[in-house]
Amino acid sequence: MRKIFIVGIGPGSYEQMTIQAVRTLEGCDTIVGYPVYVDLMKPHFPDKVFLSTPMTQEVQRCKMCFEEAKQGKTVAMICGGDAGVYGMAGLMYEVGRDYPDIGLETVCGVTAAVSGAAVLGAPLIQDFAVISLSDLLTPWETIEKRILAAAQADMVICLYNPSSRRRSDFLKRACDLVLRFAFEETVCGVTKNIGRDGEACCLYSLKELREIGVDMFTTVFIGNSQTVVLDGKMVTRRGYRI
Ligand code: SAH
Repeated sequence: MRKIFIVGIGPGSYEQMTIQAVRTLEGCDTIVGYPVYVDLMKPHFPDKVFLSTPMTQEVQRCKMCFEEAKQGKTVAMICGGDAGVYGMAGLMYEVGRDYPDIGLETVCGVTAAVSGAAVLGAPLIQDFAVISLSDLLTPWETIEKRILAAAQADMVICLYNPSSRRRSDFLKRACDLVLRFAFEETVCGVTKNIGRDGEACCLYSLKELREIGVDMFTTVFIGNSQTVVLDGKMVTRRGYRI
């Protein structure tokens, strides 16, 4: 059976791709993805055909993969980080119901929670919750409930999609929800452009975090009651006695 590969390319740099992701893309004719990811991959796979559709054209992008595969091409759908974490893997399976002769194989990638944690230190060493602040596909009331539940349970919280032009105060709103259960001094970290030009990270208190501006290439970490700053890094204590 012909199959399409759904490939997580990691945060951005070639070195942060898995060997399996690289080998899979090397074996493809056509690589389809959001323009940012296509631009990241083009220099490393110069002999491939690259196709893309803009943001909000995700269904179209998936159909494009299946149509290319129907023409006999070996196709990969690429996503930043992992394709199964706020990526295209789920939609590919849904659209794939209309193409019963074409199978799908997912190749995992390093998601921003994991690559960002490595930049900041070791914030996710305990239980943590990953929450997206994008209300494009999830109602804000649901996001709010999840933030409150995670904060009440003293989980470290990793926030994806913390901002956009339309949602500039969402991070502040999220911080205010967490502050119902956490101290203002709670250690937080912000990572930007992980594995890409302009990679940066910074530590804040929760009180400070609610005042900063972030963009859509940023992942935010809110520590729990066990998170401290050690040697300038954000570290959540696991509980070992030393
Ligand atoms: N599938 C991706 C997530 C897509 S949602 C993954 O697994 O990483 C997009 C959000 O992911 C961004 O708003 C940001 O919060 C985060 N993100 C993805 N790549 C990033 C990077 N290189 N640096 C910082 N944050 C990133």
